Amino acid sequence: MSLGTSSVDSPISINRMVPCEVSDSKVKKGYPIKLVTESGQREVFCGLTGIVWLHRKIKDAFFLVVGSRTCAHLIQSAAGVMIFAEPRFGTAIIDERDLAGLADVNDELERVVSELLEVRSGIKTLFLVGSCPSEVIKLDLGRAAEKLSEKYRKYGVRVLNYSGSGIETTFTEGEDQCLVAMCHEILVPSTSSENVCNLLIVGTLADIVEDQMARIFEKLGIQNVEFFPPKSSEKQIRISEKTRFVLAQPFLTETSKTLESLGLELISSVFPFGADGTRKWYEDISRVFGISDERFHNAVKPAYERAMSTVEKYKEIFYKKSFFFFPDSQLEIPLARFFSTELGVSLCEVGTPYLNKRLLAKEIASLPKGTSIVEGQNVDQQIERCFDASPDMTVCGLGLANPLEAKGMTTKWSIELVFTPIHGFDQVGDLLNIFAKPILRNQQLNFKVDTEREVVS
Ligand code: SF4
Repeated sequence: MSLGTSSVDSPISINRMVPCEVSDSKVKKGYPIKLVTESGQREVFCGLTGIVWLHRKIKDAFFLVVGSRTCAHLIQSAAGVMIFAEPRFGTAIIDERDLAGLADVNDELERVVSELLEVRSGIKTLFLVGSCPSEVIKLDLGRAAEKLSEKYRKYGVRVLNYSGSGIETTFTEGEDQCLVAMCHEILVPSTSSENVCNLLIVGTLADIVEDQMARIFEKLGIQNVEFFPPKSSEKQIRISEKTRFVLAQPFLTETSKTLESLGLELISSVFPFGADGTRKWYEDISRVFGISDERFHNAVKPAYERAMSTVEKYKEIFYKKSFFFFPDSQLEIPLARFFSTELGVSLCEVGTPYLNKRLLAKEIASLPKGTSIVEGQNVDQQIERCFDASPDMTVCGLGLANPLEAKGMTTKWSIELVFTPIHGFDQVGDLLNIFAKPILRNQQLNFKVDTEREVVS
């Protein structure tokens, strides 16, 4: 086993489709959606990708993938960070000797961890991140993390583990698994009400977004608001049965279950994307905390109006455009809601790798009547439907974007949506710009081609 980086590829396999069109009357009466479930390999990154944004957020953590050269290359390419920049992630590469059983993988892992901690001071939490190879050879990373934690606790280093393997997780599920691993370490149940967190905002947010949100919560008068994951893994957040939590990301199914098992109550809302979406998010939180209409209005109005005027500027570009979402990041439904309700975009199909109807109930209820949501993926059939629909914008993973562009489709990689700050009022412009750029570029290219044709004729 050695510490390093290397190269990757993702297999494509197609399985059968199981269409089951149901009217989901439980979601909201009078607003039925069309829900179709497809089975087949999901054309998405594995959960290791989450390391790219998690390592930027948790500034004293190190993510050690226990995997192959393929895993190392995926992380290195996705993060786009040079090795000499000393990023806070790396790969303990399982090599042929480990696979052939010629070396004790646990001893090798211990050696790699000791080398790493010797050269990298300042690591407070070391995550051992499981991958397909570590899963296939049945490496018990939970046991390894416990053992290493015992060994390094005296040096102030905690060792945790979670799985980011492509067998168990897709793309954003890596963050979900990581947060579950952190819950019991960061959140400390308390019987006293002193300094207890009142509101926990859950899901990785860019620092700039976190600061903006903290300012609005201060204006709203909600005390002791904490963000999870925190910037420092050493932080301890005191929680009690009074602590409420709200999700900032829609893909945190397991984290939500863990928080609820700790006695925290979920505030159900939409997700803070777009002007109205963000406003609604603050409104649902404010209701729970009994904030007066006047205070809410004063705290939210300036930023809301700025966001509304940004949305207004982009309306011309998006109005009556059609969008097709392939399943990828689990952000598809909140984004579809934003584009349809605030910009007049029509939705051909909204794919999502997984659908948690409870966490997304308010999002689903806000979608236009008859919206087609497809959970899971049968990529061949989905591509056919996409071609038939001929949308103005196709939102998909990296693997599909280039072939679709070659066929003349305008695409947007959904990975940009997790790497760019897009939450909250002040990021509405950035969010819209991500989608406006390819549409405008294609309009300009088509205009150029038409003009050249006219000149030639
Ligand atoms: Fe590929 Fe699995 Fe490694 Fe992800 S965890 S990069 S899917 S081998």
